[in-house]
Amino acid sequence: MLSLGDLAEPVPADLLAKYDVAGPRYTSYPTVPAWRDDFAPDDFARALRAAGATGTPVALYGHFPYCAAKCFYCGCNAVTTSRPEAIDRYLDDLERELDCVVGELGRFHRTAQLHWGGGTPNHLDDRQLERAFRLYADRFRFTDEVELSLEADPRLVSREQLRTLRALGFTRISFGVQDLDRNVQEAIGRLQSPALVRDVCESAREAGFTGLNIDLIYGLPRQTPESFARTIDEALRLGPDRVACFGYAHLPSSRPHQRVIEEAELPDAPERAALFQLAVRRFTEAGYAWIGLDHFAKADDPLAVAQREGRLHRNFMGYTTMPAAHLVGTGMSAISDVGGAFAQNEARLGPWRERVDAGRLSTVRGLWLSDDDRARKHAIQQLMCNLELAFDDIPPGVDDLRARFAPFEDDGFVEFGVDRVQVTPRGRFFIRNLCMELDAYLPTQQGQGRFSRTV
Ligand code: SF4
Repeated sequence: MLSLGDLAEPVPADLLAKYDVAGPRYTSYPTVPAWRDDFAPDDFARALRAAGATGTPVALYGHFPYCAAKCFYCGCNAVTTSRPEAIDRYLDDLERELDCVVGELGRFHRTAQLHWGGGTPNHLDDRQLERAFRLYADRFRFTDEVELSLEADPRLVSREQLRTLRALGFTRISFGVQDLDRNVQEAIGRLQSPALVRDVCESAREAGFTGLNIDLIYGLPRQTPESFARTIDEALRLGPDRVACFGYAHLPSSRPHQRVIEEAELPDAPERAALFQLAVRRFTEAGYAWIGLDHFAKADDPLAVAQREGRLHRNFMGYTTMPAAHLVGTGMSAISDVGGAFAQNEARLGPWRERVDAGRLSTVRGLWLSDDDRARKHAIQQLMCNLELAFDDIPPGVDDLRARFAPFEDDGFVEFGVDRVQVTPRGRFFIRNLCMELDAYLPTQQGQGRFSRTV
């Protein structure tokens, strides 16, 4: 592992300007804009059957779209409601969808991971949480080491809810904190006091959660290095096992609710970079390992150990030590990576409901991966997760990698060794730019306004 020593130096402004382009975050490769609209429910069914035939454990994702109110910065597929009966109806539909999924995959397929995201999974009341859990537990067979995790809004957490979740077997919880400065919180439409977040984290520990994650966002309106430093220090006092520090993606043309955010109050590219660098410095100085693109984990956390040992993985749910060969996404808008294909469910509630009510899968797009896709996907994963690419893993279609990476080598982002190229600490800030050189689809996608800025 290369030293983090030069992180003390700010990344020069000319490099930030040079590499500040629109680009994918590479939660998948090929990225969603490359997927095909003629990938049909029958294709997804075939992919599920292929995964079922292997017998290898799957990871499950459940999407719970409901939130109490819409945050201005939201980039998720979320629906606001205060009506419990709306959530009950969603669970009815989810049950139908899960029946379709296990009809193809096979009932009681072994499952190594279940993660609930949203939306706000803990907008469900205790009865609904128990019912949602049974929807999965009655159809899949959890392995002995299964990890059950969920995302949660601290403002909706109660001690009783945490006890319910623990009784169901959930051991990891990710709290959406974002920023603890009141001024920033007002600008993003999400008020939650540091005292409330502290109380919720303590309650989660008391309830027996062994994995406590905190999500922060940099690049929000009114954030300053001083205010964000206070947020980071407060986050450190919570003692999280893992921290995600995502860059805010301001895309008001495709997310109209973000128009409420005053663009003049957003940090510019150098300021954003400085905020992220601040996070990297503060967390690493506090003993956390910098994981992949934008995560931090305690040095003895399994994610940190996996990265040190070169076996970290990433899927749509985030970084993981569990290389489940198949990820099955359930619920509206959910994405699957299964049986050699990507597939996405209908993202609009009404049309999703119509399809599952008719007893059909709701797939609206997807892609069968070619050998070239698979080779590039693996190479991008290696860079994003393990910060290196062995020459043996260079995709056949990228035999000019050395030439492509020459500008990055000149700028100190990568170092070529005898059998691999390694990403330097400075290069980690530009890792999306490196991956873009391995992306065969990008030349036809750029300029479509689909991607956020890389810096
Ligand atoms: S709680 Fe999360 S998913 Fe819901 S609106 Fe806010 S940011 Fe979006």
